[in-house]
Amino acid sequence: MGRRFCVRCGREEGPDTPIIDGLCPKCFMKERGILELPTKIRVTICPICGALYIHGDWIRVGGSVEGAIEYFINETIVKRHNIYPGLEDVKVKVVRMDSGVIYLRIMARYKDVSLSQDAVTHVELQKKPCPSCLRSRSGSYEAMLQIRTIAPVRFDVMRDIGNRLARVKEFRESIVEIKEHKDGVDVKLSNQAIGRYVANILKREYAAKITMTWENTGYLGGKRRSKLTISARLPGLVSGDIIEYEGEPAEVMRLKKGRVIIKRLSDGKVVSLRHDDIWRGDFRYLNEKDYAILDGRILNYEGGRAVVQATGSGNIYFIKSPRILNLGSRVKILIYKGKAYLLI
Ligand SMILES: [Zn+2]
Ligand SMILES: [Zn+2]
Repeated sequence: MGRRFCVRCGREEGPDTPIIDGLCPKCFMKERGILELPTKIRVTICPICGALYIHGDWIRVGGSVEGAIEYFINETIVKRHNIYPGLEDVKVKVVRMDSGVIYLRIMARYKDVSLSQDAVTHVELQKKPCPSCLRSRSGSYEAMLQIRTIAPVRFDVMRDIGNRLARVKEFRESIVEIKEHKDGVDVKLSNQAIGRYVANILKREYAAKITMTWENTGYLGGKRRSKLTISARLPGLVSGDIIEYEGEPAEVMRLKKGRVIIKRLSDGKVVSLRHDDIWRGDFRYLNEKDYAILDGRILNYEGGRAVVQATGSGNIYFIKSPRILNLGSRVKILIYKGKAYLLI
C-alpha cells in the first residue's frame, strides 16, 4: 500500500491515524464530522410518564429527560444516511442540556480507531400526554394554571418551578396538558383544588401574585360546572438582574423563601422585599434598554464620592460609593435615568 497523507494538514497515515476520505481523523472531524445533525431536534415527550414519541409510537424509556433525548437521537438521527460511510458503532451521548441547547459527544469507530467529536444543537421539547395517560383521565380539564413572569421567561427559572411543583404527586397526576410558550407555561389540570394548592406554593415560595377567575361552562348531570383559570405572575428574577424599586435601581442578589433580596445601588443597602412590597407597584424589571453598563476604573475619592473614569469614553463620573475600593480598581458603572451608580 502506498503512503497516504492528509490532504489538509499533510499528516502521514499510520495505525492511529487512518486516512478517511483523504483526511486524517482530526481534520476529518473538523471538515466532515461523524454525524450530520439537524440544527434543531424536536422531541415529543409525555410529561406524566416520560414516554417518547418516535415514528408514530409512544415508547417508555424511563429515566431523565436527557436520557430520553439521548435515546431519541440514537434511535432517529443515527441512521446510515446521516453517517459518513465507513464509520461504525456510531453512538451519541448527551453531555448536558442548558436552556434548550444540548451538548453532545458523538463517538464512532473507523477500522480500529475510535473517534470522538463534540457537537452542539438545539432541542425543542414538546410536552404532550401519551394516549394511555390521557385515557387515565377524562381528557377535559377543570383548571388552567397560567405561569407568567415579570422578567423575561428563563429556562432555568421555569425548570426550577417545574421541579418544585412536580414534587407534589397529586399535581403531577392531575396534569392534562402542559404548554410552554414564550410568555410562560400553561398547565391544564383535571382538579381545581390541586390548582389552588400549587398556586399557594407559587405565592409562598416564589412571591407569585395569584388571580383566579371562574368561567361557567354549563350544566352536567344537573350540576353547574365551571372552569377555573389561575393566573400566577412571578417576579421570575435571577441574581444579577437589575430592577427599579421605589424609583431607584437595585441589583437582585437572590430569592429566598418567597422574598426577593435586593441591593440598592445608591447606598449599597440590602433590602428584603416581601410579597406586598413587590406587588404594591413600586417594583419594575429593567432590561438592557433601560440602562447602560460601562467598564470603569476608580481614580480617586473626593468629598465622599468615587471619581470613576469610564474605560471606553474616558468620561469622569463622580459617584456616591457604598464602600471604598482600592484606587485603580476596575468597576462596572450603571447609568440609569442619567445618573451613575457603581455595581459593586
Ligand atoms: Zn489532517
Ligand atoms: Zn404518558
